[in-house]
Amino acid sequence: MDIEQFRKAGYQAIDRICDYYYSLENRPVISKVEPGYLKDHLAQSIPEKGEDFQIIADDYQRFIVPGLTHWQHPSFFAYFPTACTFEGILADLYATSACNPGFNWSSSPACTELEASVMDWAAQLLGLSPVFLNGSGTGGGSLQSTASDSALIAVVAARSLYQRDHHNTKMEDLVIYTTTQTHSLGLKAGLILGLSVRALEVTAEDEFALRGVTLQKALDDDEKQGKKPFILIATVGTTSSGAIDNIPEIQQVVKKQPSLWVHIDAAWAGAALSCPENRERCYLKEINEFANSFCTNFHKWGLVNFDASTLWVRNRRHLTDALDVTPPFLRTTHGDAGTVIDYRNWHLALGRRFRSLKMWFVFRSFGAEGFRSYIRRTIQLNKKFAEYVSLSDKLILVTSPSLALTVFRLSPKSISPAQPALDEQSLNNLNRLFYGRISARDDIMLTQTVLNGVYCIRLAVGAARTNESHIKQACDLLHKEAELAIEAWEQ
Ligand code: PLP
Repeated sequence: MDIEQFRKAGYQAIDRICDYYYSLENRPVISKVEPGYLKDHLAQSIPEKGEDFQIIADDYQRFIVPGLTHWQHPSFFAYFPTACTFEGILADLYATSACNPGFNWSSSPACTELEASVMDWAAQLLGLSPVFLNGSGTGGGSLQSTASDSALIAVVAARSLYQRDHHNTKMEDLVIYTTTQTHSLGLKAGLILGLSVRALEVTAEDEFALRGVTLQKALDDDEKQGKKPFILIATVGTTSSGAIDNIPEIQQVVKKQPSLWVHIDAAWAGAALSCPENRERCYLKEINEFANSFCTNFHKWGLVNFDASTLWVRNRRHLTDALDVTPPFLRTTHGDAGTVIDYRNWHLALGRRFRSLKMWFVFRSFGAEGFRSYIRRTIQLNKKFAEYVSLSDKLILVTSPSLALTVFRLSPKSISPAQPALDEQSLNNLNRLFYGRISARDDIMLTQTVLNGVYCIRLAVGAARTNESHIKQACDLLHKEAELAIEAWEQ
């Protein structure tokens, strides 16, 4: 493809993307293809002779789009939606056209300098303490691919720091603390690094948030056993229920255990900190006072296209001490002088995508005010949905609604009094039947979860195009499916 062919194909691609967005609402949310569907449409191997690009572009529409689940659909309420914006799409296009793995400052100064600046903008937007800013010279922020990568980096840095201060620690004694509600990233970090992971118990009475007493007891037990817990991954906004670990209580415990690194995984909920009214509830003050590292994914609830996971550390030296490996071919004058950031030493790989461009485009185009108003709108929409559940004679809330997430299930009262009373297992089965009906539909997408043995359903608001009419549709549809599930159950 030459430059003029690229120009033509590029215009067409933008036209088609616009058509896609115009048609999004009329498409099914969920792809209905069967496993292996694509094999029949693909050649067995790379074509020997290059093909005409128009045919390739048309095949994308014919074969790939039908196999996509439309995460930008306004009735996508599954997992945590990823709010994508046109500003981000365009930034990715520019970034990919520069095709630049800016790992050192000198390998592309703009990549490093823009990242350092937008990470400071983002920190200020969320109200993070100035100690986390790149401008502080001590702490700093960088863009990672995912929250799982961010957590892994935090664990690597924490381990290195702990081993520096506790020379004779055996690897087999080191323990990563998580809770039973921590995302799979905790176990995965343990798996990758060959370290033990201890998931601390949380209870329904505490709305699945980690309490200080539980942490203290685990520390006491482990001390007796000669174990060395060196990091706690605490969560602000768990995946299953949006639980917020009790950070003030954790802070009190950690005061007596300063060698315990505390990483805050706020992959989803972190964006809510942009609105001052959410800060107390998410314990921002305490996070600012003592957390060693903090992560949120702007590609979840932050209007930036996947991927854009932000990771801040209180002390950048802890990252570079653990991750700086500099063979001669990576040495540079500025790097040697220590006058610039070389982001390759702040993450796992060498090369890195030019992610800061999309953060810059989105932040400038929305402004802090536009960003906050999107967050407030989604929280408001979730409030409406939660109100509907509270007033329903068929559904109940399982936990208090958290920001833009509601967890609910069919209520035992929805079964007719003539039926035998439901035990917990039957109620779970009834709810599985209910969810089975919802997930068989293609016009809405929600996810299931289990909270300490209780089967429930989650609805997360966040897709950029969701409005009140989609919440109303979701309520009507859930009401109908609840009736049908109960009817089927009673027969
Ligand atoms: N942490 C929380 C609280 C999440 O909800 C998720 C994903 O939904 C993750 C971590 C994992 O995110 P990633 O895919 O960026 O690793």
